[in-house]
Amino acid sequence: MDKIVSLCKRRGFIFQSSDIYGGLSNTWDYGPYGVELKNNVKRAWWKSVVYERNDMYGLDAAILMHPKVWEASGHVENFFDLKSDCKSCKKRFKAADLLSRPEGGKVCPECGGELTEARPFNLMFKTYQGPMEEAMSVVYLRPETAQGMFVNFLNILDSKHPRLPFGLAQIGKAFRNEITPGNFTFRTREFEQMEIEYFVRPQEADKKLEEWIEERFNWYLGLGIRKENLRRRPHTKDELAHYAKACTDIEYNFPFGASTSVSDDGERKRATGWSELEGIANRTDFDLRQHAKASGKDLQYFDDIAKERFFPYIIEPSGGVDRSCLAFLTDAYHEEKVKDETRVVLRLKPALAPVKVAILPLLKNRPQLVELAKKIAADLKKSIVSVYDDTAAIGKLYRRQDEVGTLYCVTVDVQSLEDNQVTVRDRDTMAQERIGIDTLKEYLQTRLNC
Ligand code: ATP
Repeated sequence: MDKIVSLCKRRGFIFQSSDIYGGLSNTWDYGPYGVELKNNVKRAWWKSVVYERNDMYGLDAAILMHPKVWEASGHVENFFDLKSDCKSCKKRFKAADLLSRPEGGKVCPECGGELTEARPFNLMFKTYQGPMEEAMSVVYLRPETAQGMFVNFLNILDSKHPRLPFGLAQIGKAFRNEITPGNFTFRTREFEQMEIEYFVRPQEADKKLEEWIEERFNWYLGLGIRKENLRRRPHTKDELAHYAKACTDIEYNFPFGASTSVSDDGERKRATGWSELEGIANRTDFDLRQHAKASGKDLQYFDDIAKERFFPYIIEPSGGVDRSCLAFLTDAYHEEKVKDETRVVLRLKPALAPVKVAILPLLKNRPQLVELAKKIAADLKKSIVSVYDDTAAIGKLYRRQDEVGTLYCVTVDVQSLEDNQVTVRDRDTMAQERIGIDTLKEYLQTRLNC
């Protein structure tokens, strides 16, 4: 993982937040390549779950919601972790993590000091709306995007008149005052979620849950995650959230060992890298019933053919943008020997690569070459995400582009001025081909499928 963290900083994917002030711990900023990767992940998700389907609608609900939402959802009462503090070193630990340690949670894993009794710790960030800091004006930063979709169920029924099954999709920030954040961007207090709430007839919930598990699992594979690094892990009964009837996590085998994992036979283990990317749950009709009760609004669905009114069940595939990005980066990271050097290359799929094409003049002190290269770049930029770079020798420029996953490098050399051809280098094979400038765009578009 150190290599990924170092690459992210060196090349401008992810920086420590507020770095010049010593950094805010476990908080990260996405740099020029990071924001492109993140946008590409979100775009690929939206395309797959909204544009390519007939039964899904997008939503972008506000982060701040009526405080009653969090009472009805159970977050005020139930959304907490048990934590223990070390009386000596003052570090704070999740009781669940301590239990899985050999010393059984009795002493501090860092310094061996005495631990306090486990105490509940609500994970929601509380703030105040308006100028008065009083109980009446308390609002929470949402700890999940899901509730924004439940409370808009009626608006969607009234504006879109959808038939079951149908779903809502939303991408947005969520905040949790995690006790033990860490592992780079894996667990942070501010993060982004990609969530779906899919409304179904209760009797088809089990089948739809399985369909979504398959669909979401294949989405990660389709975007390049290697099969051996991805698995489905059904939750055991004692792990299920209070509202869920069933849940399966999609896990990625990260190169860190800090997570608690439950193997297929139910044994709790630490020190494996398998960690959750996404959870897909059958939430039953819990959420709609709760909000109907608390708001006094009828949140039932009316089937005008069968003439029946009922609360749909909800299947929820809920994933993290940051965790996905980290998994895609980790899986794409390769080191290989080329001659006597180590080449670092990010083998990101075309849909995810932050930059698709780099245009590089072989000699930056030849104005005609620079002019031609800039002209080619300006033309390509209109339809393909491309960069122009002449800040180093060609070998170094290739290495830089490999490290950020750029799919093709187009080199303009002296001969280009005579034969109107350029050299196109493939990131993965490093094979080079001479291509006519007039057919370059088509050549690249076909390969990039864009
Ligand atoms: P975990 O068990 O790892 O705390 P969770 O089961 O509480 O996760 P969910 O409530 O199911 O997570 O949230 C859905 C998704 O949101 C997770 O699969 C994950 O990708 C993302 N997510 C949740 N908490 C965090 C966090 N603190 N930092 C980054 N991503 C998160």
